[in-house]
Amino acid sequence: MQVATIRTEDGLRAARRDGEELVLLPFDDVGALLASGAGWAARAAATEGTRVPVAGADYASLVPMPEKVFCVGLNYADHAEEAGLPIPEYPPLFAKFGRSLIGAHDDLAIPAASDKVDWEVELGVVIGKPARHVSEADAEDFVGGYTVVNDVSMRDWQLRTSQFLQGKAFEASTPVGPYLVTPDEVDHARSLAMELVVDGEVKQRTNSDQMIFSVAQVISYISTFITLAPGDLIATGTASGVGHLASPPVYLTPGSRMTCSIEGLGSQTTRCVAATDGATAAA
Ligand code: MN
Repeated sequence: MQVATIRTEDGLRAARRDGEELVLLPFDDVGALLASGAGWAARAAATEGTRVPVAGADYASLVPMPEKVFCVGLNYADHAEEAGLPIPEYPPLFAKFGRSLIGAHDDLAIPAASDKVDWEVELGVVIGKPARHVSEADAEDFVGGYTVVNDVSMRDWQLRTSQFLQGKAFEASTPVGPYLVTPDEVDHARSLAMELVVDGEVKQRTNSDQMIFSVAQVISYISTFITLAPGDLIATGTASGVGHLASPPVYLTPGSRMTCSIEGLGSQTTRCVAATDGATAAA
């Protein structure tokens, strides 16, 4: 099953995909659907409601305001290598916030404060039920579904200090979605082709089977120190091919057009535009 959060005249609504139609569900968004408890998928599958065409749907961030957003850094060996960094012993984790997220096809406003805006196609994991002290063997049971994330990164801000946060959590900078795809449809995303194209040029091409720390390992690891809640999002890291480490480096600018795709999960198209606010803010 595939579910999305779409913008309607009456505000946000969760919706189930049925072919080329979306069936509106009685939840404000996918986060609320997941938080409705065990059996959410079966209930959503059985629910009928108003139908709208997939064509022209306006997708919000899949879970608009998750309790937590974790990101794994350096989870692909070729990306660690291009960055000149060692393979990590533990998953390097950083965070984003709900306000950092945008919909799958929303415009990306290039902030006036950064001139090093870069891309990272990543497998997104959305938690389906509370996970605490979960073993690696059991961890996949806690996945609600998988999605596409573009961990857009302001490299100048990211590399100001040893902490990545400020370069990773810019307001309205991270496309998530369009769909949450349940694990049965994609064999737990263990081997999915991933690609990111900028202005017609393939920049990243990899497979989720290249991750150093698996989805199960990451869930188990995080659940050791905090409860993962329904709707929490984990961006599981990117492969080589980011703009900052190209020679010469290339960055996103107003007018850039980016497509981010994962086999079985769909794709995002993001148009970059100039920010209309913050031009005079201190950088
Ligand atoms: Mn990343």
